[in-house]
Amino acid sequence: MLFSDIQGEYDMVVAGGGITGAGVFHGAVKRGFKVLLAEARDFAWGTSSRSSKMVHGGLRYLKQGRLLLTRAAVQEREFLLRQYPGLVTPMGFIMPLFRHYGPSRAAMAAGLSIYSLLAGERQHRYFTQKEALDMIPGLRKENLLSAVGFKDAQVDDARLVLRLIYDACQNGGDAVNYARVTGVERDARGRVAAVLIRDEDSGAALEIKTPVLINAGGALAETLHPSPMKGFHIRPLRGSHLFFPSNPLSLDRVISFMHPQDQRPVFLFPWEGVLVLGTTDVDHGGDVNAEPRISKEEAHYLMEGMNHVLPGLNLNLSHCISSMAGIRPVLSRGKSLAASKESREHVVWQDKGLVTVTGGKLTTFRLLAHDALKAAKPFLPVRTPGSAIPEDRPPLNRISSLKVPGRTVERILGRYGPKAGSMILDQEESLLAPVENTPDIWAEIRHAAQHEDIHHLPDLMLRRVRIGLLLPNGGVALLDRVESLCSPFLSWDKARWEKEKKDYANLWQACYSPPEPLKEP
Ligand SMILES: Cc1cc2nc3c(=O)[nH]c(=O)nc-3n(C[C@H](O)[C@H](O)[C@H](O)COP(=O)(O)OP(=O)(O)OC[C@H]3O[C@@H](n4cnc5c(N)ncnc54)[C@H](O)[C@@H]3O)c2cc1C
Repeated sequence: MLFSDIQGEYDMVVAGGGITGAGVFHGAVKRGFKVLLAEARDFAWGTSSRSSKMVHGGLRYLKQGRLLLTRAAVQEREFLLRQYPGLVTPMGFIMPLFRHYGPSRAAMAAGLSIYSLLAGERQHRYFTQKEALDMIPGLRKENLLSAVGFKDAQVDDARLVLRLIYDACQNGGDAVNYARVTGVERDARGRVAAVLIRDEDSGAALEIKTPVLINAGGALAETLHPSPMKGFHIRPLRGSHLFFPSNPLSLDRVISFMHPQDQRPVFLFPWEGVLVLGTTDVDHGGDVNAEPRISKEEAHYLMEGMNHVLPGLNLNLSHCISSMAGIRPVLSRGKSLAASKESREHVVWQDKGLVTVTGGKLTTFRLLAHDALKAAKPFLPVRTPGSAIPEDRPPLNRISSLKVPGRTVERILGRYGPKAGSMILDQEESLLAPVENTPDIWAEIRHAAQHEDIHHLPDLMLRRVRIGLLLPNGGVALLDRVESLCSPFLSWDKARWEKEKKDYANLWQACYSPPEPLKEP
């Protein structure tokens, strides 16, 4: 919706359109509340489009003794696999085991047995040294003992956020991007009575009556509502990834290994037709309101880890096509603890109708939403869950008669849910072709321009579809075709298109381009 369309009162306003805000929004609409979600930038602009794309229990949390967090995450993973097939997909993991380095087989056996137990079925198996060498391209042979394989899942993080938001809108919720919540007004008893929202494009401001504001602002959450816990504040930790073309390698599973420098887990994984290497975990010194960028040191750290374990891959930074950095909002007592040892569990604090929820994981968004809504309950009116609008089920027989591979149909169903049918069936056949060497199809670009609140080109290229990460130069070479496809729906004149294209190319260069190699001292 547009900022100028916002009107009336709401039972609840949600500030922040990342996975946390989207989860709360979706959950609250399902429970029958009248809800407005306001996102200061674009939906999924923050960390929720910059994660490692894993829907996982988190073996590392088990190692830290956080059994409950792991159990909840494993249960959520199973739920999301059932609920969003084609969007959340099973993914195999393999971890080589070395003599004198990384976890021992006994330690992995203990962890994975608990992991399998929590999932209700055995989900791991061991491979001999020879099998490991056959399965993992370029793997170091020296001191290699064996490998262990296990199951988790993968997602397009930004599309999961968008799926939740647009499903909730379909059921009566209102969501607006480029609208920043700037404050709350309280009544005589100190309870939230209204929130103030600013249109980030025009500067227009609005006061919306509501008894509840859910603050899901991620790393920026303390701007609206400082932590009441003495000495505890959000510690913004940056995690970065590098993207490589998958050719000539074809990986069908995640390779997980311990970085030789600090024994942190690092992953090399296939995603959307490319290979992704990550992540780091460092204090983010920069402005949390600006787009982050990987540092040269992080890039060097990632390459060093990969080249130690997978020397035969012969990958270096000159092969890298793009990069991405995200900020993890972690509530911390300060910098006394190593970044990777900070708790990833979520926290909720509240003050008479203002409920802040932050931390946690993409995987566990429903648990965050549950806890936030529980904290808001005393301030909410009583509502009965509305009967969800029956899903406009895509006519599968018509879809299967199209000349589109089954995998593409599954992907589209997962990403667009009730809207998938119209998305594929109403398009010219030429738009059902993939965009270059990516799994995205041209029809998605047109659908986004038509229905998905595009304010600026990065919204389209980096979050509605992910070609800004998947193609060299952020897919700038395709922008003329994007323009001709989208201009009927975006009402941008020629000058605006030129500006958008230039701004996108500059942003990509500044924040998503491959890092320069470190200069030798
Ligand atoms: C490198 C990295 C890898 C990760 N990998 C995984 C993984 O593989 N699996 C997993 O489960 N988890 C992972 N996580 C964790 C997960 O990504 C985050 O926990 C999650 O994305 C946080 O979501 P969020 O909605 O709280 O924050 P964000 O996604 O940052 O969203 C907050 C939003 O609020 C908006 N906002 C801020 N202030 C206001 C305001 N005043 N008004 C309106 N809007 C506002 C911002 O613009 C932003 O879009 C990873 C995290 C990082 C950093």
